[in-house]
Amino acid sequence: MALYDVVIIGAGPAGMTAAIYAARANMSVLLLEKLAPGGQIINTHEIQNYTGVGTINGAELAYKMFEHTQELQVAFDYGTVKDIKEEGNIKIITCEEEEKIFEAKTVILATGTIPRRLGVENEDRFAGENISWCAICDGAYYRDKDVVVIGGGNSAVEEAIYLASLANSVKVVTLFDLTADPVSCDELRALPNVTIYEFYNIEGFTGVEKLQGVRIKSTQTQEEVELTCDGVFEYIGLKPSTEAFAALGILDEQGYIKVNSRMETSVAGIYGAGDVVTKELRQVVTACSDGAVAAQVASKYIKTI
Ligand SMILES: Cc1cc2nc3c(=O)[nH]c(=O)nc-3n(C[C@H](O)[C@H](O)[C@H](O)COP(=O)(O)OP(=O)(O)OC[C@H]3O[C@@H](n4cnc5c(N)ncnc54)[C@H](O)[C@@H]3O)c2cc1C
Repeated sequence: MALYDVVIIGAGPAGMTAAIYAARANMSVLLLEKLAPGGQIINTHEIQNYTGVGTINGAELAYKMFEHTQELQVAFDYGTVKDIKEEGNIKIITCEEEEKIFEAKTVILATGTIPRRLGVENEDRFAGENISWCAICDGAYYRDKDVVVIGGGNSAVEEAIYLASLANSVKVVTLFDLTADPVSCDELRALPNVTIYEFYNIEGFTGVEKLQGVRIKSTQTQEEVELTCDGVFEYIGLKPSTEAFAALGILDEQGYIKVNSRMETSVAGIYGAGDVVTKELRQVVTACSDGAVAAQVASKYIKTI
C-alpha cells in the first residue's frame, strides 16, 4: 500500500487549496472526496466576495480550483472516509467503500458542513420534495411559483435574491432580523416580489399529498400566520461533517474540529481546515487560507518524523 505524505479528506475550497500547497511543497498527496470535487460552492449561484475574481458562478470556481490541483498532478479518488486510526506515526484512513484503505504520514480534515434542519412538523415528510437546502439545484422548479426562504444570514439572503429572479414571489422568514451583510440585505429589501417576515418562528409545514404552506408565529405578538407556497428553502445554519473523527477526541461540543492558528489538532500530524474547524467566519476565502496553512505546517511536520 502506498504511503502518502498527506491524505486530504474533502475536496472543497479548503481541501483543494491544501492539495495545491502540499503538491508545491513536493509532498505526495491524495485528495479524497465522497461526492464531486468543489464542496458547497458547487451549489452556490454566485460568489461575489472571493478576492480578485469579481462575480463568479460557484460551480465554475470549483472547476477552476480542481483544474489547478490537476495541473499539479494531485492524486484524486472518490471515497467516504469513516475512520482514522494511528499506528505509530502512520495514520490509517478507512473509507466506507470496503477496498479503500490508505496510509499517510499526515492527514488534513477538510470535510466542511451540511445544512441544519428545523426539526418541525412535516419537515421530514416534504424534505427533498418541496423542501430544499439548495436553491441552485432546485430553484428552477419554482419558476413563476411562490416560495418561502427560511433564515436571515448570508446564505439565506443571497439565495433569496437568486430565487426572486425566478419565482413569482419569495417570502423570507427569519427568527431575528436579517443578519447578512448590509449590501445584500438592501438588495433583497429592494426587490418588488420579496416580503420579509422578521422575528417569526417556524411552527411546521402544512399539506397532505403535497406541501401547501408554512405555519409561522410571531415571537413578538404571538400571532400565527400560514404562508401558502409551492416550495421552501431552508438556510438556518450548518452542522460539521465530523462523525468519522469523533473517536480522535479532537471535536468541540458542537462537533467542530478544535485547531490552533497552525491548524493543528491535538493529535500530531492531523490538521483541520475550512468550515469544519472552530472559527469566526465560514467563507471560501477563509477555507482556502486554512488549507494553505495546514499543508505548510504538515510539510514541516513530516521532516521531523
Ligand atoms: C448557499 C450558500 C452560499 C454561500 N455563498 C458564499 C459566498 O458567496 N461567498 C463565500 O465566500 N462563501 C459562501 N458560502 C460558504 C462556502 O461555500 C464555504 O465557506 C466553503 O465551501 C467551505 O469550504 P470547505 O472546503 O471548508 O468545505 P465544503 O465546501 O463544505 O467541502 C467539504 C467537502 O468534503 C466532503 N466530505 C465531507 N465528508 C466527507 C467524508 N467523510 N469523506 C470524504 N469527503 C467528505 C464533502 O462532500 C465536500 O465536498 C456559501 C455557502 C452556502 C451553503
